[in-house]
Amino acid sequence: MKRLLNTKKISPLLVIIMTGAIGILLVSAGTAGFIVFQGQFLDKVEKQQQTYFNLVDFRDKVIDYGEKSLEKSMPEKAKEMEVLQFMHDRLTSEMGDACPRQDQFFPIPSSGNSKLILLQMQTAIDQVRAESRTAAEELVFFNQIFLFIILGLLLSLNIAAGWLLHYNYRLTLIPLAQLARRLKHVNRDIPESIHDTAEEMKKDLKEALHSPDITQISQSIMSFCGDIEAKNKKLDEIFITDEKTGLFNYRHFKEHLIIDVERAKRFRTSVSLAMIDIDHFKLYNDANGHIAGDRVLEVLADIIRKQSRASDIPSRFGGEEFAILFPNTDARTAGEISDRLRKIISAEPFPHDQNQPTGRLTVSIGIATFPDDAPDWYTLINNADRALYKAKANGRNSVVAFHELGNQLSTGNET
Ligand code: GH3
Ligand code: MG
Ligand code: MG
Repeated sequence: MKRLLNTKKISPLLVIIMTGAIGILLVSAGTAGFIVFQGQFLDKVEKQQQTYFNLVDFRDKVIDYGEKSLEKSMPEKAKEMEVLQFMHDRLTSEMGDACPRQDQFFPIPSSGNSKLILLQMQTAIDQVRAESRTAAEELVFFNQIFLFIILGLLLSLNIAAGWLLHYNYRLTLIPLAQLARRLKHVNRDIPESIHDTAEEMKKDLKEALHSPDITQISQSIMSFCGDIEAKNKKLDEIFITDEKTGLFNYRHFKEHLIIDVERAKRFRTSVSLAMIDIDHFKLYNDANGHIAGDRVLEVLADIIRKQSRASDIPSRFGGEEFAILFPNTDARTAGEISDRLRKIISAEPFPHDQNQPTGRLTVSIGIATFPDDAPDWYTLINNADRALYKAKANGRNSVVAFHELGNQLSTGNET
């Protein structure tokens, strides 16, 4: 049965319908056959009973004839003999050889010597009565057998249908309920638990008995979950990445800056920020076009990414400006990293950089550190910017830390 249900072409519903139809056909055919058989048997029993009554009737008439023969006239006797003859003929046709022979009755003797005849008659009557009773008992027996067969058939059908329903319940409804439960999670917790949900679904499916249809549905849902998960990851990446350079975008940079400043406040550590601006980039663009300028931005972004540590947040601040956030880093370390970066960039050969005012493409970098140079995140940006201006004023291709300016802290505005 399991193999039958697993066959793709025959659905469980079809099996239930087919089993039911075959059962109904069997019961109908059996009942019709039995009704015909019972009708024929009843006819036989009725005939036997009729013969019995006819025999009894015949015997009574014979006794009557024998006892009163002396009182009757010849014509009366002849008439009665005619009736007896008719009755005997009828019995012969009904009983065949079992009927007492004619020469045993006719001529019918007087009452004195009719005992032997009556004895023979009684034997025939007993025999017919016994046959008639046996036939009636047989009829009752066959009725009972038929009843048992029908009951057995109905019981088997009931058991088969119950088993099929139970099998389908386990195979379809229970796994469907499990799927529905999992899907509720998916709807509620997208995107956080989508991976866990797909994994749990896989585990549930391995453990539970289920139909091929359920497997197909679950696999579609799992692959759907996988697609959503992959797309969510991609979206997350897009959400925090600068399209042109592949560095983190301003949104992500600012989010981290706020979090890292708060963390530094709580744990009394430092956060440093380096603002990087390309020197005379307008000239480069004007001389070589924006496409070449974009290529420079990409190469610079690669260098910045490679020089940053895993915990740093290298970002494109906007235009031709970059920012690197150094969590848990003091001004001195940030200065060292920035100066190394400046040197690497100035040593990098960019196409047509010989046309730049200094004969190379360079950057200027301004550094500020929380809490020494700024009390909050937006002042930190402003002060790194001020240090950057100073680096430009110093002749570019240089790194200036805010504390070197000898100024008071900028109050700045939140942007
Ligand atoms: P300075 O040394 O004082 O920074 O001079 P600068 O020429 O770099 O400064 P300025 O602010 O005058 O020019 C910045 C230029 O950066 C202008 C603009 O065309 C260019 N720029 C900004 N964003 C992009 C970009 O995405 N691609 C390209 N190719 N150029 C950009
Ligand atoms: Mg600029
Ligand atoms: Mg510039």
